[in-house]
Amino acid sequence: MPYETILTAWTQWPADHPVPLRWGADACRRRWERGVSLLAEASPTISPVEVECLLGPLIDLLAGIGAENEALERFAEAWDRGELEPSALFPGRGRIGVPSAQEKTGLSQDCLAVLAYGSLRPALQGYFGECRPHLGDWTLGVCPFCGAPPAFTDLLEDGRRQLACHLCGGAWRSSRLWCPYCGSRNAQHFVRFVAEDKEEGYAIFACQGCHGYLKELDRRVRWNAGSALVEDWGSPHLDLIARQAGYWRAAPTLLQLENPA
Ligand SMILES: [Zn+2]
Ligand SMILES: [Zn+2]
Repeated sequence: MPYETILTAWTQWPADHPVPLRWGADACRRRWERGVSLLAEASPTISPVEVECLLGPLIDLLAGIGAENEALERFAEAWDRGELEPSALFPGRGRIGVPSAQEKTGLSQDCLAVLAYGSLRPALQGYFGECRPHLGDWTLGVCPFCGAPPAFTDLLEDGRRQLACHLCGGAWRSSRLWCPYCGSRNAQHFVRFVAEDKEEGYAIFACQGCHGYLKELDRRVRWNAGSALVEDWGSPHLDLIARQAGYWRAAPTLLQLENPA
């Protein structure tokens, strides 16, 4: 499974890097009250050399599935010249990766986002570790820590819905009758469908307002399931079903690069 290459590379990440963000509860909440994700106002010192150790195998993997080879070469060259740094892969408004990285390389937005997901997770996960407990109410459709879009949904033990971010490992609660992409609260917009073999606990939540979807795992029936990331990346058949039904997702997976729309 191609994702194993990525997950294995992550295990090599040095645990003490980067230095965690040491903002207290007040400093975090002041940003959240303004609707700002922490990464927008923080500047983690992430070593390009460490990130490169993750980008290398990932670029090989993407080249192996035939995704955007020439643009990937331009990306690698620009990285080597120091023109692109880890912050070039950070999320911005409605996207992952800065626009100049796309202009410089010709990579698609999905491919740039996949590079970000594959190379920043270990750094950002540790970076926000000390801020996670400070999270209170957060009602936006992007990660309160890094600003990336939600990538997966967990229905927790108490039946509440939690959105998961794959870029930093963040998670936040949200209403079950709300589309995190377009903000719709119109229950008539929402459809929930399951795979033909009806694996218990797995579903697709889709919005007919914006045609976005998120996969959803009910942990009350799948108490021994893996993390949101492992469950998401391990269920591409559900993404195929959603795509065939005409829906899109904001956090791309390898599937989008193997079979561009
Ligand atoms: Zn995040
Ligand atoms: Zn929507």
